[in-house]
Amino acid sequence: MKNNIYFSNKENFEKIKMNFRANWASKIHFLADFDRTLTKAYIDWMHTPALIWVLREKNILWDKVTIKEKELYSKYRPQEENPNIEINKKKEILHNWWKETFELLIENWLTKNHIKQTIDSWRLIFREWINDFLYITNKYKIPVVIISATAFWIYSLDEYFKKYSKNYNNVKFIWNILKWDNNWKMIWYKEPIIHSFNKDETLVEDFPEIYNKIKNRKNIILLWDSLWDHHMSDWFDYENILKIWFLNEKEDKLMNEYLERYDVVITRDSDMSFINEFLNNILT
Ligand SMILES: [Mg+2]
Repeated sequence: MKNNIYFSNKENFEKIKMNFRANWASKIHFLADFDRTLTKAYIDWMHTPALIWVLREKNILWDKVTIKEKELYSKYRPQEENPNIEINKKKEILHNWWKETFELLIENWLTKNHIKQTIDSWRLIFREWINDFLYITNKYKIPVVIISATAFWIYSLDEYFKKYSKNYNNVKFIWNILKWDNNWKMIWYKEPIIHSFNKDETLVEDFPEIYNKIKNRKNIILLWDSLWDHHMSDWFDYENILKIWFLNEKEDKLMNEYLERYDVVITRDSDMSFINEFLNNILT
């Protein structure tokens, strides 16, 4: 799969590798995205949709929710993608989008049954060789912190990993917390909402149990796919950083921008083998 791997600067990458090797496993932690990073971006040549997309497109709640959801999407999505809107403004926009979505779902009696239906008509596949990735990080006790802005989970990511026997105790999750009443109806969501533009903030510090595990591990490896997530680790006082990004779409158009921002760019929905090789290389 080597021809799907691009380096912004190979020499610099080798230097980063040396620095990681010098400090070995005890200083490393991963911060990773979930959707289309640890999971494949395409299944049978189709883009894997977000859960909220399935809820909308399959019309699982009422028609009026589907219509309103589509309105929100057409209003906010272009703003999310507009490169001329500065980051703080974008955060505000995204926060409003998520908030209005949650309010809409609460108002319209979203229940866990709706989410179960949504998940049942949803397909998700982990990237190949993820088992090796989890095995290696677990063997060397390297924390893997997964941050997801996914709007809702009936089975938390945690449960999802269990379902696929991938629940290792070095893997930790940060995602939106929702509350349900006795009838399984959604009644509450926790602020600050995690959306696709604020994963960079001191979010991890709000989860002290996780933060304590990583705060002294100053060599950080980021795994992500979105072009906009490059501020992810700005708040963290790291010594070495390696940014590995999956470029899942518009390769011709976006490659230069990805290479400007990230150290390694992986294309064509490839597997985890580059990351596993990197780990084997620095740890053995
Ligand atoms: Mg993603």
